[in-house]
Parts: sequence; C-alpha cells; structure tokens
Amino acid sequence: MMQTLTILGATGSIGTRTLDVVARHPDRYRVFALTAFRQLDRLADQIAAFRPQCAVVPDLAARDTLQSMLAERQIQCEILVGESGLCEVAAHRDVSTVMAAIVGAAGLAPTLSAVRAGKRVLLANKEALVMSGRIFMDEARRAGATVLPIDSEHNAVFQSLPAGFGYGLPNSGVTKLLLTASGGPFRTWSGEQLKSVTPDQAVAHPNWVMGRKISVDSATMMNKGLEVIEARWLFGVGGDRIDVVIHPQSVIHSMVQYADGSVLAQLGNPDMRTPIAHALAYPDRIASGVEPLDLASTVGLTFEKPDLTRFPCLGLAYAALSADGLAPTVLNAANEVAVAAFLDRKIPFLDIATTVAAVLDSCDTGAQESLEHVLAADAAAREVAQAFIAKRSRSYV
Ligand code: NAD
Ligand code: MG
Repeated sequence: MMQTLTILGATGSIGTRTLDVVARHPDRYRVFALTAFRQLDRLADQIAAFRPQCAVVPDLAARDTLQSMLAERQIQCEILVGESGLCEVAAHRDVSTVMAAIVGAAGLAPTLSAVRAGKRVLLANKEALVMSGRIFMDEARRAGATVLPIDSEHNAVFQSLPAGFGYGLPNSGVTKLLLTASGGPFRTWSGEQLKSVTPDQAVAHPNWVMGRKISVDSATMMNKGLEVIEARWLFGVGGDRIDVVIHPQSVIHSMVQYADGSVLAQLGNPDMRTPIAHALAYPDRIASGVEPLDLASTVGLTFEKPDLTRFPCLGLAYAALSADGLAPTVLNAANEVAVAAFLDRKIPFLDIATTVAAVLDSCDTGAQESLEHVLAADAAAREVAQAFIAKRSRSYV
C-alpha cells in the first residue's frame, strides 16, 4: 500500500538520506510534507524533486524567501510556518508515516503531535524520548501509534528482539540489550589531550557522517548515554539490563543477549539508509542503496569496555536514568546548551560534562507530572546551564 510521508527535518543528515531511499521506491512512498529550519535552497530543491503538498519553515521571512524561490520555478506548494505548522503536517489526516528527524528538543512537539494522531512514527529524534520518555510512550500506546526506531543501535536491537517484545511477551528470555558504540574520534586520546579538543575535531566522526550536534555527542559519548535512556523507553528494559560495548569498526550495530547464552546481532555497513529503509518498509524489506557487507574484507571486529573516567557523560546519563523523573530532561537540556556553547567556542570540550553535572546537581529532578511540567523543567535547566557557562567562560578570558 502507498505510504504518504511527512519528513520533519528534511534538509538534515537523516532527512536527506530518507529522501534518497524514498526516491528508489516511487511505487511505495509519496511525500506529503517537508520541513526545514535554515537551508531553504536545499529545501526548494527537495520540493522540486518530490513535489510535496506542503512545506514548513520557521517564520514569515523564511516563507517569503521560499515562496519566491518556488515561484521562479513555477512550483505550487503550501507553506506553513513555525511549531504549529510542524504539528499540523505531522498530524494531517492524509499522512500515514512521519519521519521525526528534527534535532534536539525542538523535535518534541511535532513528534508528539504525530504520536497523538496515531501515525506510524519513524523516530530519529532521540532527544524527544529522553526528555519525556514515559509521557511519550504512554501517548503512543493510547493513540495506537507505531514507533519504529531509526537510531542504528535501536533499530538493530529491534531487529534482534523476538517479534512482539515490549507488548508483554512472556518468557522471551531476553536478559540484556548490548548497545554498541564506536567510541568516537577520541576513543584512544588521553585525558590531557581531551582538554584541547576543537569543534572541527569533534565533528569529524570516524565512521558516520551526521549533523553537528550528534557528532559532538558521539565524541563525548553523551550520544550513547542518550541512547541508553532511549532504549529504556522504546523497549521497556531497565538501565541495569542495558550495557554499552565499544566496537570501533561500527559493523555490529547492537545486540540482544538471551537466557540460553545466545547473542543476536544486526550487522551492516555504517549507513543510516539501512535502518531508514528497514523502518519505512517494516515488516517488508526493500533496497536502500547500501552496499552489501563484504565480510571477507572486514578486518577484525573488536570490543572494549567504555571508560567512564575519560568520558563522564555516559555515567551521567546512566545516573539520570536511574534517578528517573525529570533527571533525563535536565540532562538533555544542559547537554544541548553546553554542546552549542562548545561549538561556538565559548567553553572547552571537557566543560560539556562539567556543565551537565553541575546543572543536574542544582535543578529539580522530581517526577514528570505532565508535558507542561517537562517543558518547564527543560526551560529552567537551560537557564541554569547558560548562567553556569557565562560564569565559567568569564574565567577563561
Ligand atoms: P541535522 O543537524 O543534520 O538536521 C537537523 C534537521 O532539523 C534539519 O533539517 C534542520 O533544518 C532541522 N531543525 C534544526 N533545528 C530546528 C528547529 N529549531 N526547528 C525545526 N527544525 C529544526 O541532524 P541529523 O544528524 O539529521 O539528526 C537528526 C536527529 O536524528 C537528531 O535527533 C539525531 O540525534 C538523530 N540521529 C541522527 C543520526 C545520524 O546519523 N545523523 C543517527 C541517529 C540518530
Ligand atoms: Mg545511534
């Protein structure tokens, strides 16, 4: 059956790869809406190629610019604006499937809008789940939405779990989820070397090409921490049963361990088009454009334990998960602010973890009472993080 898609964050790394897969299967997928924040010329090219009914941009100035770009090419497309526009195209009755690929907390409202409308939601935006995991999954169950993981580790776990897991499957025998991590560009760097990491070094990931924020998260290993929290909510497995294994080659994308000693894994070349195609077509399988894995020329798969001393962000995320309540919300907000400050060269690399730890110490991390409560905690944590960074950065000048 033809699926009609909204792609939230179409111009980003996940968004463009999604369109790459979609373009290979015009018989299966039609694009209803594309959204972008800044890269309007890229969005205009995408609109010309996929002819969606709607597009969403951040404000009226961006709408005028896009409108004139499209008029020059004589292309008709309804242009909506802002968060309300994003929520509208995510929940539209003509849409069956929503790719949630906006980065950061900005993705929460539109992703929840898709969930509440009972859509099939392909979830790349891990921050939404980290911020409000329990509320998000409760809403998905209530609305009968299907949430399919795009994050490569969660997609691999999903593929390695027995069908129906997470919906009360008895005696599944699942003992642990083993999330693999490449270790990022600084896996072998000393604590001393980490003091002088620059933004350009941090965004150059050895195996994956990704947006800037997630690339920095991979370098601090906060990305893996966010993924542990994401796995807890997606699969309903406690943090004590989610382990992280460093696997620098990024060939095994994650594993599931069973009571009988079996470990099931999903392997493939590190290319996000594989999990995207898997979730788009699930339960079918379609071509993604990814080269088949050449095992004979894959030299040595190795595994290590993560080092929480050099990469404290991973430990902070485990601690926030076990504290529960608003702690993951605060962790995520402080991390977003700290990563942006690091990319702006306002704080050094190691201060990302220092900032997150300080904000976790000084913010309310009680129970998540409602979505409004989560959003207020997010805003408060951002203010505390900004103030902490302003104070610290004065001391660097
Ligand atoms: P990106 O920076 O390349 O793209 C982000 C997209 O979001 C862009 O289309 C941008 O226009 C849009 N956007 C940014 N800020 C916005 C705002 N305030 N309002 C509305 N739209 C906004 O990021 P990415 O690497 O594609 O990652 C997207 C999400 O997917 C992130 O949550 C990331 O953690 C997750 N993810 C990415 C990868 C990957 O390989 N890139 C892998 C796993 C998970
Ligand atoms: Mg991942």
